[in-house]
Amino acid sequence: MHGCFWHQHDSCKAAERPTSNIDYWNKKLDRNVERDNSNRKKLEDMDWKVLVVWECQIKNREELKQALTEFLSAE
Ligand SMILES: [Zn+2]
Repeated sequence: MHGCFWHQHDSCKAAERPTSNIDYWNKKLDRNVERDNSNRKKLEDMDWKVLVVWECQIKNREELKQALTEFLSAE
């Protein structure tokens, strides 16, 4: 489960970066994204299947249900 802002959900309105302290936020958020990618890769290397659920997705139960169903029924 990822918060859209902290984990920088692609093209999500909730992930817009702050307009003050830009350097601080860019570094911090870029680091979060790098860490997510690295963690995901480690899990996949151990043959885990990874589904990222975004904060904004849980507001739409139908969309969430569909994403979970697809993930769980995929080979
Ligand atoms: Zn989002």
